[in-house]
Amino acid sequence: IPPRERLPAWIRSPIGNATALEAVQGVVKQQRLHTICEEGRCPNRGECYAAGTATFLLGGPICTRSCAFCQVDKGAPPAAVDDDEPERVAQAVDTLQLRYVVLTAVARDDLDDHGASLFTRTMAAIRRRRPEVAIEVLTPDFWGGRQGEEEGRAAQRTRLAAVLAAEPVCFNHNLETVERLQGEVRRGATYRRSLELLAAARELAPALPTKSGLMLGLGESFADVVACLGDLRDVGCQRLTLGQYLRPSLAHIPVARYWRPEEFDALAGIARELGFTQVRSGPLVRSSYHAGEA
Ligand code: SF4
Ligand code: SF4
Repeated sequence: IPPRERLPAWIRSPIGNATALEAVQGVVKQQRLHTICEEGRCPNRGECYAAGTATFLLGGPICTRSCAFCQVDKGAPPAAVDDDEPERVAQAVDTLQLRYVVLTAVARDDLDDHGASLFTRTMAAIRRRRPEVAIEVLTPDFWGGRQGEEEGRAAQRTRLAAVLAAEPVCFNHNLETVERLQGEVRRGATYRRSLELLAAARELAPALPTKSGLMLGLGESFADVVACLGDLRDVGCQRLTLGQYLRPSLAHIPVARYWRPEEFDALAGIARELGFTQVRSGPLVRSSYHAGEA
């Protein structure tokens, strides 16, 4: 039985805006782009597109890592960097008159800068056409630890600094899951390094809000999640997204549990008490959900 058939009643996609959906899908296809919205068949597409928001996936459709939950293709060698991608993203943003754009990228551990310039070049291209568009970045960890911990950390910081210097409106890096489940769920990233990246962003750009998110339903307990929220606050993280993990296919890690809407609400209350200033928590919340709203 496909997992979709076992979804609980509270996981329902909102009725989309068909016109906005068609417009975005047409332009994304025509420009040969990749979006998390479409590749992940995100349940919020109608809503987000109608609000002028979309999440572009930079660096091609193939990732050099292989996280157990992620629907992005992996395994095959990554494609050569497409020098024209920033212009095509910018053109799509312009054609669709998007107001709030989230840029994310596959992990490109094969590149010297681990993909940092994918962000900076695309931000520059968007701003040449539409300087008023707000751009949030949702980055991989830019970790380049081949040379050892210290050199890896220094290189990660340099890549992060380059992205922050391009002045996004928000720096987002997801922890994805609680500390205990990191090894099972993520590949190549660690809890500590991700927290360090968020801490470094606060240090390098103190005026810029930082954001992180978790998927629930992978086997974590309520206490695990609360501990993780505390760790995020300890590195000054201000914005939070909590959503239900939905298994993209039978080849992906199974759902351990569907968290109930009232549990998401309870966690949102705790997050606010801990000092998060923007909290999105609910079964269908994704890391870019309602990102452009205060
Ligand atoms: Fe795209 Fe994020 Fe909205 Fe989903 S929540 S449609 S991924 S912008
Ligand atoms: Fe997916 Fe990102 Fe993991 Fe790559 S690094 S498999 S894109 S979650």
